[in-house]
Amino acid sequence: MLENLTAQPADKILQLMQMFREDPRSDKIDLGVGVYKNAEGQTPVMRAVKAAERQLWEVETTKSYTGLAGDPGFHAAMADLVLGKTADAGQIAAAATPGGTGAIRQGLELIRMAAPDATIWLSAPTWPNHPSIIKYLGMNMVEYRYFDAETRAVDFNGMLTDLSNVKPGDVVLLHGCCHNPTGANMNAAQWQEIAALLLAKQAVPFVDIAYQGFGDGLEADAYGVRRLAKTLPEMLIAASCSKNFGVYRERTGLLMTVTQDVGKTALNQGTLAFLNRQNYSFPPDHGARLVTMVLTDDALRADWLSELEDVRLGMLKLRQQLSDALRKRTGSDRFGFLADHRGMFSRLGASEAQVQAMRESHGIYMVSDSRMNIAGLNEASIPILADAIVSAGV
Ligand code: PMP
Repeated sequence: MLENLTAQPADKILQLMQMFREDPRSDKIDLGVGVYKNAEGQTPVMRAVKAAERQLWEVETTKSYTGLAGDPGFHAAMADLVLGKTADAGQIAAAATPGGTGAIRQGLELIRMAAPDATIWLSAPTWPNHPSIIKYLGMNMVEYRYFDAETRAVDFNGMLTDLSNVKPGDVVLLHGCCHNPTGANMNAAQWQEIAALLLAKQAVPFVDIAYQGFGDGLEADAYGVRRLAKTLPEMLIAASCSKNFGVYRERTGLLMTVTQDVGKTALNQGTLAFLNRQNYSFPPDHGARLVTMVLTDDALRADWLSELEDVRLGMLKLRQQLSDALRKRTGSDRFGFLADHRGMFSRLGASEAQVQAMRESHGIYMVSDSRMNIAGLNEASIPILADAIVSAGV
């Protein structure tokens, strides 16, 4: 049997990490992998998470199973973080999942159960795991324009034109904030237009929100998802805690359905629990419990908010410094988009050959589509990157 297996395509980013590790240059710069790093290049455990972990160790009396859908306290705390007061608890069904990826996978499985022939609309480009999982599940997908390669902003007209072809019951996957891989995001007015369009088209939004708090702030980053929840009769949300709580390896995520018809919530909740049961039974709990403690304890929450805000402002500062360094070198504002982008990533707009040239000449590692992890920079590496960008002729 096993001789029938064929090799699966390697993950580009993991391959890049391997190349980076093998590069002997001491001044190499890793802008590849999508993990937050501080100025020292570390991905620290956040202070509030560490404190919650210490408390949990003291008070935890059992590691027996939680519910199939995870802990309702986690659902409530996360629903409040993502949706604020936009939706009542009675409208929301939720299941804890292994990371945001687990939430996306379970959400797609839910869609497949409810509407096997629905088409999933994906932004071009999007996080490669989206099409990969959809293809694996044998579902239909099509792309909508999202990124303008010239301005490096959202191609909003293209997006509206493409989404005008959505059929009733189709699913439109949107990044809640901090678009991966481009860094280009919709403003509030554009979110309003998209919400109105999806309502008119009777489409179902599926929002992947993996970087809340990394862009314009926790509340501002939730604007789009909340607008959709207010406008549409039903939607799905996949939330990841990996980045904004720094609990990557704990695998902490939540899938939510939100419906205006509260009579549907119990069925949705039962289906989410059923799906967890089929795939892995009980979801991981440790990360979810830490997140719940941080969100519901005033002191822990305040400390988390302050550290998260430092992370966000630090990335904005790096964006501004890189944009300024490039203005100085080129005498133009061509790279102003770097300061306008939000979140951990920016798509630079370099060709694959230019990306390779920067790797070979300056030891700079970015994904071949020229996605850069801004958090991989620091004050010392910004001038090196700016020089490399100019000498590669980007
Ligand atoms: N969505 C997007 C757009 C992401 O970038 C990520 C993380 N790379 C995720 C979801 C999910 O991350 P995780 O499974 O690690 O929580």
